[in-house]
Amino acid sequence: MSERTYEMLWDCQYCGTKKLLGKTHRFCPNCGAAQDPRSRYYPSEEDKVAVEDHHFVGVDVTCSVCNTLNSADSHFCQNCGAALDESGVAVTKLASQTANVMGEFEEMGSRDVVKEEFDAEMQRVGAAPRTTGLPQQAMDWRVIAFIVAAIVICGGIAFYMLRTEAQTVVVTGHSWERIVTVEEYVSFTTRSWRDSPPAGYNIDLRAGSCTREQRGTRQVQDGETCNTVRSDNGDGTFSEREVCVPRYRSEPVYDDMCTWEGERYEVVNSYTTSGNDIQPFFQPLTLQCEGIQRVGCEQQQFNGTYVIHLQSEDGSHRYTCPLSQAMWTAIAEGDRFTMHVRAVDNSSGDCGSLEAVDGSTSLSNTSSGKTGETD
Ligand SMILES: [Zn+2]
Ligand SMILES: [Zn+2]
Repeated sequence: MSERTYEMLWDCQYCGTKKLLGKTHRFCPNCGAAQDPRSRYYPSEEDKVAVEDHHFVGVDVTCSVCNTLNSADSHFCQNCGAALDESGVAVTKLASQTANVMGEFEEMGSRDVVKEEFDAEMQRVGAAPRTTGLPQQAMDWRVIAFIVAAIVICGGIAFYMLRTEAQTVVVTGHSWERIVTVEEYVSFTTRSWRDSPPAGYNIDLRAGSCTREQRGTRQVQDGETCNTVRSDNGDGTFSEREVCVPRYRSEPVYDDMCTWEGERYEVVNSYTTSGNDIQPFFQPLTLQCEGIQRVGCEQQQFNGTYVIHLQSEDGSHRYTCPLSQAMWTAIAEGDRFTMHVRAVDNSSGDCGSLEAVDGSTSLSNTSSGKTGETD
């Protein structure tokens, strides 16, 4: 990338001479006033003055004793002789500018340093927004306090609503539901991508069945977008260079969509049995050539849910808990448990917290070995 260096411009605040050169004119050629680096600005295209063979030595420094502008390679102020390593302050650089699509820069032109300083100072002491400044802060404080209070209250309510306490519950009954699912071994045909065949047995790709279809898109680089950027070097010059970023467009991605043939089990029927006792059974069925994996033959799958019904000791609240079949079978009507229930209204018990009170069932509590017994 080619990079070219040009003079920044500045205007003399004392005699009003405009478009002085940042690097060449360290003093106003008209009245002799020292350049104020804060008044530097980027020139328009017509006013650009190139700096040939620019040798960058560093950002200019301002002597903090006498305010004179010095080059970064001088160690003592050319005006008052102060040691710049201690009293030199690097000048503030202008923000970089990027040209728009037409290649034009935002025009800056002459700067009114006195006004800029005045505005900055006013902003610093808060002169302009004083009337709104204090209520603004009080407001912020109130908003924060309100938010904190809201969080605390919401948290408190949630804690109160969700708090649980252990309660004694009694088993009042059992219920169960069992489902037999009948699956038939069938042959099937389906279409899917070549790299993702369907699940099943004896899967085959039908010859000649694949077609090209769009599967998605991808981003591909399509040239690059370049803009001219100019950046302040801080020594009275600025540099212009091309900055390019890749440009992308989306492109369709094609893949093979194919026809597959194969065999698999498909659900053809299901039968549900249920009861409120402790003798669960499945619907007895006669299947087609059961146990043989051949088209037209059937197999069955078994599933069940087993629920115990509980109520609070005073009978005012009822709960149901799904359990494993073994646990469900081991529990008898009249067994007593403790269970964590929502304290606020005794609703929704936590079935995972069930613990036997009597130690009469497999859920019995094995806790509470007394400490100190072994010694
Ligand atoms: Zn002047
Ligand atoms: Zn000085």
